[in-house]
Order: sequence, then C-alpha cells, then structure tokens
Amino acid sequence: MTMPRCLSGPHAGPLLTRRAALRLAGASLASGFLAAPYVARATGTAATARQTHWRNGNPFSLGVAAGEPSVDGFVLWTRLAPEPIGTDPQKPGGMDPHAGDIEIAYEIAADPDFRDIHRSGKAIAEAAYAHSVHLELAGLAANRPYWYRFASGDAVSRAGRAVTAPLPGTPLDRLKIAVASCSNYERGYFSAYRHLTDEQPDLVLFLGDYIYEKVLAPGKALRPHSHGAVAADLHGYRDRYAQYRLDEDLQRLHAELPMLITLDDHEVQNDYAGEWSETFDPPARFLERRAAGFQAFYEHMPVRPSRARPQGPDMRIYERFSFGDLAEITMLDGRQYRDREACYGPPDRGGGHLVTDASCPERLDLSRSILGATQERWLHDGIAAAARQGTTRWNLFGQDVLMAQFRQPQPAPEHGFAFSTDRWDGYPGSRARFMQQLHATALRNPVVLSGDIHSFWANDLHLDAGNPASPLVASEFVGTSITSPGPDYRALTAWLPANPQVKFFDSRKRGYMAIEITRDSLTAHFRTISDVTDPKASLSTLRSFVIENGRLGTMSV
Ligand code: FE
Ligand code: CA
Repeated sequence: MTMPRCLSGPHAGPLLTRRAALRLAGASLASGFLAAPYVARATGTAATARQTHWRNGNPFSLGVAAGEPSVDGFVLWTRLAPEPIGTDPQKPGGMDPHAGDIEIAYEIAADPDFRDIHRSGKAIAEAAYAHSVHLELAGLAANRPYWYRFASGDAVSRAGRAVTAPLPGTPLDRLKIAVASCSNYERGYFSAYRHLTDEQPDLVLFLGDYIYEKVLAPGKALRPHSHGAVAADLHGYRDRYAQYRLDEDLQRLHAELPMLITLDDHEVQNDYAGEWSETFDPPARFLERRAAGFQAFYEHMPVRPSRARPQGPDMRIYERFSFGDLAEITMLDGRQYRDREACYGPPDRGGGHLVTDASCPERLDLSRSILGATQERWLHDGIAAAARQGTTRWNLFGQDVLMAQFRQPQPAPEHGFAFSTDRWDGYPGSRARFMQQLHATALRNPVVLSGDIHSFWANDLHLDAGNPASPLVASEFVGTSITSPGPDYRALTAWLPANPQVKFFDSRKRGYMAIEITRDSLTAHFRTISDVTDPKASLSTLRSFVIENGRLGTMSV
C-alpha cells in the first residue's frame, strides 16, 4: 500500500490508520449523535425508540457513499432501506412513500472518531427517490479528508470518508486513482473491489456497467440476481442496486473511497444507443425504461442532485473535475446521447454488431456522434480552455467504451475488415473530431481511460485512427472487468498484427487499474485477481505501463 500525499491536508496523520479508524468509528457511537438528540435513549427506553422508529430493520443497510469532490465540498449519499430487497414494489426498501420526505441528521468530522465535529445538520431522504439522500456540502476546507455519518431515530449509519479537492493551480505532487468497470454480481465475487479498496487510492473512477440488468440462464449464476428477473422497470432496477450494495466489498469501497462515475449500457439495457433499444422497442417506450434505469441509478449513487437529478429519461452525468495543477478528469457519457448503432434493424441488428465498409457504409458517416452534439461541443470547449490555460499537467478522460480502432480481419481477404458498431469504431466522426481537437490545441498529456470490453488494453490514439503513421495524439488504457467474462483471447490476439496501435491486450483476468500520477509520469498498473469464483481471491499485477510527462506514447515497465 502506498500513502497518498495529495488530497490530505494538515490532518494527514490519521490516513495511516484510516481503515482501522473507520472500523473504530463505526463501532464507537459514544460521541456526537447519541449524546443529545435522541431523548428516548436518555429516558431509558432505547429499545422502545429502536422499535418505534426502525422496528423492521437497519435503515442504513445499504451503507454510505461520497462522490464528486470539489475544492470546498462533495456530495454524500445514503438511503433509508430497512428491508432493502424483495419488498412490495409499492414500498421500496420497506419504506412507505406516502410517509413523505424524512429528515435525518448528519455529522461531518475532522477525525475518524468524530471528536472534532466540523458540521452537523439535517438532510432530506426524499420519498420520490426511494428515500435516498444526496447531500451537497460546500464551505469546507480544500484538499483534506473528512469523516461523515448519518442518523435517524435510534439508527446510526456506518462512518464514511470523503475528501475535498485541492484548489485549482495548487501544486500537487501525486494523485492515485483506481479505475473499475463491469461488475456483474452473477459472474463472481467482488474481490477486485476489496483489493481496490485496500490500496486506498485518492479516488475511484467507475466507467460503466455498475449493475447488469439481465440474468443468466437458471443454474448458471454464481450468485443469482434477485428473483432471476430481468430489471426493466423502476422496482427491478432498485432491487438490483440494493442487492449489489449489500455486498460488503462494494459497500466498504463506497464508505472509504470517493467516486466519480459514468454509465454504460447495462445500467439500462445491453447495447442500447440513445433512444434505440437492442430489442427494437418503440423509442417512446424505451425511454420510459431508460428513465426508470436512470432514476434507480441516481437513487443509489453519490452524484450531485443539482446536475444529475434525472428529468424523465435525461440525466446529466458528464462533468469535469480538477485536482490542483496535476490533473483534470473529464467524465463522459457515451450512451445517452449517441446516435443509433450503424445499420440498426430487425430482426437481429439492434445492439453492437460487426460490419464491414461494404456491408455498412452508414458507419462511416462522419456526422454520426457517440457523445451527441451538445456534449461534443462542451468537451471541445473544455479541451480548448484547458490547453489555453496550460496549467494542468495531466488531462484524463474517463468514458465507457473502447476508443482505439480495432479491426477484425475477415476470413476472405477481399472482404477487408470488420468493426464493432458499439464502440467508438461505430462513430468514427466523433473520434476524429476529438483527436483533431487534442492535436490542434496540443493539450498537455491527454490520457483516455475506458471500460466495457472486459479486458486490459494499452493503445496509441492517432490523429487518423486508421493510419498508424499519422501523428500520435493520446494514449488509452482500458481496465478489465470486476467480474464480467472477457472476450476470446485467442481470437483477438490473432488479430493484433492488423492493429499496430494496440500495444497490449489481455482478456483472461478480472481486476481493475491502479494509476499513479506524479509530475513526471503516469503509471497504470493492471491489477488482477486470482479467481473470480473465490471470495478470498488474491491480487497480482499483470503489467504496468508508464507515460512520461511531455512525451506521447506508453512504455511497458
Ligand atoms: Fe460490461
Ligand atoms: Ca457495456
């Protein structure tokens, strides 16, 4: 384990024993909350109070989470769910929505044992959002950790840890981020999440497929999804998030580490694109499903209500975050606004499929977009602004799907190559515009981080994706999956000679990426777990790649 020097202020000491401290904080509830406000306890009727208030279980069963650090705050999450899964759909989490919003208490402390309370107050668990809490804090000190917890009646949540970001331009020597994607509960245990948390990075980037809406065939799942039912409505999606969040490895990750998060397809439906479903649902009907998927996502994630609270089927997730003078992280949304998959059509071409230039010229239409016009403009404006300022050393882009070109030779050479319509290869115009903007602005040290494909990749991104002789513009690292099985290793490896931009590929292991950023370099460690079916799986490092400041391209170390 390495100790972060960044994102920690004068109170950095306790970081050394952060986990132990969190455990202590969760166990010792002697201070703060339990002293004054709960009079029932003082009158010797604690049992009655507990019964009266939460007779049906622990309302904080799904834990706590922090996300989206700013220089003076963050967003804190929890949800009241005494009966977290399998309840009456009319009573999500065992709560009656007709009971209305519920006021709960929060405390923010400078120390993990809550001796030095910086702030306390009330937060609202909103009935319309399954009694979830999204508390946006401001006015805190920059670049330091805080500890927080919630209370309601006689119940106190586990303690969590949040951080504020350094002020823009503040010299920062080091930032450690972990990158995760694709955690299918049915496919294995969340050992990768456990090891990721043990590394204690400053920040977690989640790049999509946090849940899987689908179900495996009966008997095929290591841990079956709730009721064996496909999640397709609000109740189904809520049940799915609750089931995942009851996993202690994932719940601890959220309590200890702040997260930036974007989505991919499985939060709603496999391979959907904008309003276009894999199953050819009428767009209006599919958007109702998307609205349900987005709402359940929102109800379970530490995202800012001021930006990300869904409006029907729309939810603004893309955003940029800065960490002193060292890094800016732009999180993109590659699903919600994308054009229909190229050559979409019944009976069998709803989701991603392989097409050649001859079979599907539509793919090459440069006006098609994976981000949508509004997000593309926002992205390109942000790149121009960051390049003009020139003060941020590393510019990271977290997004859902493989950005580098990957062409699959066809059995008959005259058929050329096939491309997947579901990745950036399906939207080459968007990719060309992005590369052009990075190249034209000479943005410092751009690095793309991607998920979705359940395998590790280190790629060169060229100005012209199809021409490795064109200028090198950026690097791409793709993490593997937390549990989801990877694509065919032998097949893809056989196609690597046709793809010189791919410097490394391996789909055989599950895990995550640990990325260490300093002023001189960015190093991506490809971490792997020994066995996804073993709840006690061990951790290894498959490979590490480094990018040196000011030098395009990645090197194996
Ligand atoms: Fe996935
Ligand atoms: Ca995906």
